Amino acid sequence: MSTILHRACRFRTFGQCYSSAVTPEAAAVLELFRSTGAYLQGHFRLTSGLHSAEYLQCALVLQHPTAAEKLGRQLAEHVRSLTSQPISVVVSPALGGLIIGHEVARALSTRFLFTERDPETRKMSLRRGFSITPGETAVVIEDVITTGGSTLDVVEVLQAQGARVVAAGSIIDRSGGHADVRVPRVALATMQVAAHYPDQCPLCASGFPLVKPGSRPA
Ligand code: ZN
Repeated sequence: MSTILHRACRFRTFGQCYSSAVTPEAAAVLELFRSTGAYLQGHFRLTSGLHSAEYLQCALVLQHPTAAEKLGRQLAEHVRSLTSQPISVVVSPALGGLIIGHEVARALSTRFLFTERDPETRKMSLRRGFSITPGETAVVIEDVITTGGSTLDVVEVLQAQGARVVAAGSIIDRSGGHADVRVPRVALATMQVAAHYPDQCPLCASGFPLVKPGSRPA
């Protein structure tokens, strides 16, 4: 494992690496990201405005159905361990949660729904005729949790419709375990992202080109 970690961490001098303090399972997840080109290294501007040398692009690992299925199965096992209640539906926020949520639902043999944000009001809701029966047990699945805001919005949409939300899960937790979504939560890999204010960024100082990857930094 240490070999993998060492190989994955080329910017160690710029601060704590994603993979420098993770569990063996998280290291295996990160290795899957690395092997599929989803573990990007460079100089990235995060949504927060901070700069980072590392970036996990979930879409790039989830483009491979076998990897998506494997991650979904692992996440489903963790979710199951959080609750003794039967789970009847998995719900994810579009767009990021669609593929992994679907795979978790497959592993749990439940149906799968997704929520969408109104482009103008940003309000999250179930559309397309999706509905919840009051009393149904639900879990909420995302690809990446950063603040937990999207997962929490989905939890609230479901609770407003009478669902019992028993757990939440994500592939990656970028909050270092701090995000509170008001239900038991699990992630396959929890990490504290090393990030810098632009005026203190060693990559800026070295003139390394800055990029903003994807629509939603992971
Ligand atoms: Zn920078």
